[in-house]
Amino acid sequence: MKAAVVTKDHRVEVVEKTLRALAYGEARLKMECCGVCHTDLHVKNGDFGDTTGIILGHEGIGIVEEIGPGVTSLKPGDRASVAWFYQGCGHCEYCNSGNETLCRNVKNAGYSVDGGMAEECIVVADYAVKVPDGLDPAAASSVTCAGVTTYKAVKVSGIRPGKWIAIYGLGGLGNLALQYAKNVFNAKVIAVDINDDQLAFASEMGADIVINSRNEDAAKIIQDRVGGAHAAVVTAVAKAAFNSAVDAMRAGGRIVAVGLPPESMSLNIPRLVLDGIEVVGSLVGTREDLAEAFQFAAEGKVVPHVTRRAIGDINDIFHEMENGKIRGRMVIDFAMKS
Ligand SMILES: [Zn+2]
Ligand SMILES: [Zn+2]
Repeated sequence: MKAAVVTKDHRVEVVEKTLRALAYGEARLKMECCGVCHTDLHVKNGDFGDTTGIILGHEGIGIVEEIGPGVTSLKPGDRASVAWFYQGCGHCEYCNSGNETLCRNVKNAGYSVDGGMAEECIVVADYAVKVPDGLDPAAASSVTCAGVTTYKAVKVSGIRPGKWIAIYGLGGLGNLALQYAKNVFNAKVIAVDINDDQLAFASEMGADIVINSRNEDAAKIIQDRVGGAHAAVVTAVAKAAFNSAVDAMRAGGRIVAVGLPPESMSLNIPRLVLDGIEVVGSLVGTREDLAEAFQFAAEGKVVPHVTRRAIGDINDIFHEMENGKIRGRMVIDFAMKS
């Protein structure tokens, strides 16, 4: 089978590979699609350590072809996912308290174990979340990472129907956060970005207020117009967005950090204490979160913007990503020829 493998000199090579036999509890998927994520770019470039020889891909969707001994949660013909949260240890305090993505012995697809950017992929059956009928595999692939990450972040924000949530950064992640906030949680959405095109798209997707923070003080506008937001989800990778989100909160507001700028944010301690502001981080989502995120997408409440590409295009896609040319999500479709 063909697989996209990381090379020593930080490229990706499409090579022929043969999978090993299935172990207890494993299943083999024939892959249909696998989205290409910014995280793959970091993995390929060695930003998280040397991953030479690993098969990339944590936004994989495939059909179960074979199950190993002891598998009861999947059967041949099921459609299932290969996610960044590939497997937890199953017995630590995090795994046993609904926080399995924090497991200290987690395995991540396309990073610490071979991922889904290949014609076939081995999964741990109990950790491969089933995709509901009626959800297109390319859309599902996007939900497997960007979708569940933003769905979980909005969930963690505690936003309630009719209340104001500010979303900072309206790229691939933010646009999905907007759709989940609007169409699943029934929140009022304020979209903040420095790019007018992204803001125009946010308006089209139903944002109630859009603010270009390159020209305007987003926090001031949010305070003036709605008395401060009840929550914020920050997908932007700029420290300024995090600081603005703190200033945009009303008392008791909660900021959920999703973007990963390398710097620290400034926090006014009296503001946190006196106004009861909370700042929390959120990382991908549990299997249950992913099942929920899939279901809302299958119901048409959230529609990821995807472009199908052939696996032979993989290095071109990374090149486009590095040059900021990608809109929406690039998804490898294994049925497509280069
Ligand atoms: Zn991803
Ligand atoms: Zn664990």
